[in-house]
Amino acid sequence: MAASSAMEQTLAILKPDSVRRNLIGKILAQIEESGLQIRALKRLTLTRKQAEAFYEVHKERPFFGSLCDYMTSGPVVVMALEGERAIERWRELMGATDPAKAAEGTIRRKFGQNIEQNAVHGSDAKETAAREVAFFFSALELAG
Ligand code: UDP
Ligand code: MG
Repeated sequence: MAASSAMEQTLAILKPDSVRRNLIGKILAQIEESGLQIRALKRLTLTRKQAEAFYEVHKERPFFGSLCDYMTSGPVVVMALEGERAIERWRELMGATDPAKAAEGTIRRKFGQNIEQNAVHGSDAKETAAREVAFFFSALELAG
């Protein structure tokens, strides 16, 4: 079946501000309504080392230290989402990095507080999605 070639997995994170404000259910509902499947899901608190490793690509950016402080400030919910063109679809559903610039109806527009505390994370390409899903989930956890 040709359609299966577009099947993708992507990593989603409900960031500490979302968990702290009891937004898990509202955001999961929006994900499920979009037709994306939640393949694996867990709640955890990132260590400093884990946050720095996860965001390594940004380590030279001025916001890196503050971003790692924020991402370790409380529990997060991490998910592997699955579906056709899941990477792009989840980015669309999230909206732009800066909630003030995100389109109406997107998760960041509705729930993001500022360019740092912007409610959710999503992988940005096939290679980063594979790395990020494997960062949090084992093959066994993805097999369910
Ligand atoms: N971020 C920030 N200040 C900026 C840009 C980004 O604090 O000027 C934070 C924000 O939480 C963002 C994360 O760093 O989600 C990663 O940045 P990226 O450019 O990869 O944005 P994203 O892919 O999350 O939209
Ligand atoms: Mg990014």
